[in-house]
Amino acid sequence: RAKDAGRNTYRFFDEQMNVEAMDQLLIRSGLRRALERGEFELHYEPQISLATGKIVGAEALIRWRHPEQGLVHPAKFIHIAEESGLIVPIGEWVLKEACRQGVEWAEQGLEGLTIAVNLSVMQFRRGDLEKTVIQALDESGMDPRLLELELTESVLIQDVENVLGSMHELKALDVKLSIDDFGTGYSSLSYLKRLDVDKLKIDKSFVCDLVRDADDRAIVNAIIQIARSLNLTTLAEGVEDVKIYAALKEMGCDECQGFYFSRPGNAKNFKAYYLDRQDNPLKMM
Ligand code: C2E
Ligand code: MG
Ligand code: MG
Ligand code: MG
Repeated sequence: RAKDAGRNTYRFFDEQMNVEAMDQLLIRSGLRRALERGEFELHYEPQISLATGKIVGAEALIRWRHPEQGLVHPAKFIHIAEESGLIVPIGEWVLKEACRQGVEWAEQGLEGLTIAVNLSVMQFRRGDLEKTVIQALDESGMDPRLLELELTESVLIQDVENVLGSMHELKALDVKLSIDDFGTGYSSLSYLKRLDVDKLKIDKSFVCDLVRDADDRAIVNAIIQIARSLNLTTLAEGVEDVKIYAALKEMGCDECQGFYFSRPGNAKNFKAYYLDRQDNPLKMM
């Protein structure tokens, strides 16, 4: 009987897995087509200076405009793109599109805006990342100092020497480097000494409950102090209300982003928000 039950359970999971495998297959073949047909778009999330209340940057976040399913978020497809290696050409498209948009905005008077792009570990391992970045900069005419590349701590623990080499070459191009989701990885603090990064992006899991949770506050404070003594900029992600904003300002955090300011929107929406906000920077009580 246990055996029967086991077999049933097995069959159940088996079918379940088939459904998931099918999904993954559909997404994988869909991704290839999406790239060819230009179904990806970038949405932008504003990054705000806590000192001035002004927008200083935009993080580019990929979306898939699926012909039947509508707007698909990266959580649904980035890991599949990574497993299949498609993240390399997709990531190349992201870099080029973000730079193109950055230059267009600069020409339209949105000056000094940093454009932040997320990188996947696969791009370090498989792609010719430095060459791609040089191409993206050259083709667009983007000021390298306004391009920021975000990597997660998981990039840093895999293949350290190789990644360190790549980061060194990237820094030589004059682009900025930041560590995304800082505090959630397993890597040691010692790499901060070896890496030439400019910014720590404090993970939103420590930020969203900041006002209520004293432990989160202690962690965020510690990160800000470490960053300050290492001469790194801090950016807090996941700012969802004005109380968090006020607390971060008080703690001496440099920049922040989150739904409190704006949900990520397409380029047109971002520009409208920017123009509106630059004339009315956030006033603190
Ligand atoms: P991330 O780089 O940490 O980006 C921040 C994510 O948090 C975004 O989700 C954003 O919409 C969301 N977020 C922003 N503010 C708030 C807030 O106040 N509260 C909450 N709860 N969430 C907030 P999104 O756009 O779904 O992106 C998810 C992840 O997908 C990104 O995390 C990034 O790791 C990855 N990703 C996005 N675009 C790309 C890309 O072009 N290439 C690669 N390799 N990964 C990407
Ligand atoms: Mg990011
Ligand atoms: Mg993040
Ligand atoms: Mg995320």
